[in-house]
Order: sequence, then structure tokens, then C-alpha cells
Amino acid sequence: MQMLQEAICEKGTVLPNGVLKVNSFLNHQIDTGLMIEIGKEFASRFSEYKIDKVITIESSGIAPSFFAAHSLDVPLVFARKKKSLTLKDNVYTSEVFSFTKQESSEITVAKEFIKENERVLIIDDFLANGQAAQGLINVVKQAGAIVAGIGIVIEKSFQPGRKLLEDKGYHVESLARIDSLSDGKITFLQEDAG
Ligand code: 5GP
Repeated sequence: MQMLQEAICEKGTVLPNGVLKVNSFLNHQIDTGLMIEIGKEFASRFSEYKIDKVITIESSGIAPSFFAAHSLDVPLVFARKKKSLTLKDNVYTSEVFSFTKQESSEITVAKEFIKENERVLIIDDFLANGQAAQGLINVVKQAGAIVAGIGIVIEKSFQPGRKLLEDKGYHVESLARIDSLSDGKITFLQEDAG
């Protein structure tokens, strides 16, 4: 997706350990125009997948999935990362190891928001080792619902997340695929370069 690649090139900075910082348009300050286009792009890529619901993880997944869910005309559910007094019974939980924080946390979704046999689209901001996506898959499966697809804003293709998910049979659509962040330089996979 050209507009996204341009934002990454112009505003992204490469941190040590293969981390891309995009705080100026995705992870802290949000470029709402770009998020709307990202949402439309997800909706178009998954338009034939009969999606009933979009699920993401707070907080950075919410902005890019909001307009996707709106365009698909389905609800958006976000998994909570923080324990809450209002959310402790009748929940699905899953352990997620965070790539950027290097610690485990438990994600939680109230049972009432995912129903058996619903076709669920998982969306997240980044795909690295696939742990966040796997945590959401676990929650969807506990509910007896179906993972209809996985939409990622920025995939770091040099990490094993995509392969892990595809090997399990999931369909992954990434709007930007980064081949390398070596030497502080951002290069995209050839298929996105044009
Ligand atoms: P994974 O679970 O696939 O290893 O990592 C994905 C999660 O870690 C995303 O939800 C995202 O929040 C975070 N993440 C992974 N890599 C990066 C990165 O390079 N930059 C940023 N900003 N977040 C990342």
C-alpha cells in the first residue's frame, strides 16, 4: 500500500533489535486520514471472506481496525491487556509474549462478544514473531468461532510470524511488508516496492 509505505519511509525510525518506531502516525500520534485508507484497504482485501466481527488488541490495534470494521459493517472488539474489575468473570484469556516489551501478559475478551461459529477477522498493527496474533487466535478458538483471516498493517517479513501463521493454515494480508531493517535502512519486499 503506497501511502503506508511513504509514511513508513518518511516518518519511521529504526531502533536496535529490529524494532521500527512509527509513533508519529500509528503507535502514539495517529494519522486519521491514513487510518481510514488502511481500514478501506483491509475491508477490500477481506470483502469476500464473510466477516462477522473484527478483533484486535488494545491499544495500537484499535486505530487501524476501527475503519476496517466500519467499512465491513461489523462490530470491532478489542482484547484488553490490563486486568479490570469490570472484566473478570465469563472471559476468554490467553498468554501473549510481547516482542517490544519482552514480557508476558494476559489478554482478556468477554465471552459475550465472540459467539460460536462467528467468522472473525484478526487485525494488528505489527507482525513480528506472531505471538499477539496467536493469542487472538487462541481466544477466537476458545469461543468456537472461526478465524476468517489475519490483517496486519506492518509485517516484518524477516521475522518468523507470517510463516508460523501460514503453516497453521491462516490467510495473512499485510499492507506493508518489510524485508530488512539492517543498518537502520528500511527496505520493503519486492512485491510492495512498486
Ligand atoms: P509479535 O507478537 O508478532 O511478535 O509482535 C507483534 C506485536 O508486537 C504488535 O502487537 C506490536 O505491538 C509489537 N511490535 C512488534 N514489532 C514491532 C515493531 O517493530 N515496532 C512496533 N512499534 N511494535 C512492534
